[in-house]
Amino acid sequence: MTTTNFPPLVAGNWKMNGTLASLAEVDALKEKLAGVNPACDVMICPPFTLLFPMGERLNDSSIAMGAQDCHWEEKGAHTGDIAAEMIAETGATAVIVGHSERRTDHHETDEIVQKKAAAAHRAGLIAIICIGETIDERKAGRTLDVLSTQIAGSLPEGCNAANTIIAYEPVWAIGTGLTPTPEEVAEAHAHIRKELAAKVSGEEEAARVRILYGGSVKPNNAKELMAVENVNGALVGGASLKADDFFGIISAYL
Ligand code: PEP
Repeated sequence: MTTTNFPPLVAGNWKMNGTLASLAEVDALKEKLAGVNPACDVMICPPFTLLFPMGERLNDSSIAMGAQDCHWEEKGAHTGDIAAEMIAETGATAVIVGHSERRTDHHETDEIVQKKAAAAHRAGLIAIICIGETIDERKAGRTLDVLSTQIAGSLPEGCNAANTIIAYEPVWAIGTGLTPTPEEVAEAHAHIRKELAAKVSGEEEAARVRILYGGSVKPNNAKELMAVENVNGALVGGASLKADDFFGIISAYL
């Protein structure tokens, strides 16, 4: 079973990019989406500072909003951190956790990612949990083992297709212009789907979980990547910053 009842999702991860002026790109995207009906959900994940103003801008639109990280506690002495409950107040409906940049820059382990995903669920947010192998792990033939370990360690109890999305992001493909072949993507996604069964109460629920591909998705490769079996959308970094490019990727679903 390889299908999901949820529409595919194309989510833009703005990372540490964007000021108030960048909301013009959101307006431009809204215009481009007006009158077309892509067969996918669309989401933008701006930095924390833009959550409230972007939420207002998106009020009258079908574009959803997510955040890029959260702390696992509800409140407390954690200078500079943001709780999932705070994110939920902005109108965001999802939060990315376990992105490889956080795993690398902030030494986040699977255990930490698991706590953050649980916090997202506690706050009523969808956890977009990122997993993926490094180039050394791929060259050593360890890709599928790495994915298994990350799934086992990063997903909390209580995951289901409504509250959890997996983003398969090979670390070596992020921001590099490199992408795995469609066959490699298919192999990774099929493996993730299989491993999910143990985490989400069985194969039927696992079949409904959206598994996004992320890593150098661009308008010129989106259609091919999104057509791969078990790929239920994309997590897009650089190409989500400009409405033209992001719309070009969304167009894979037109
Ligand atoms: C990402 O960081 O989630 C990502 C996929 O980045 P890019 O599209 O720029 O490779």
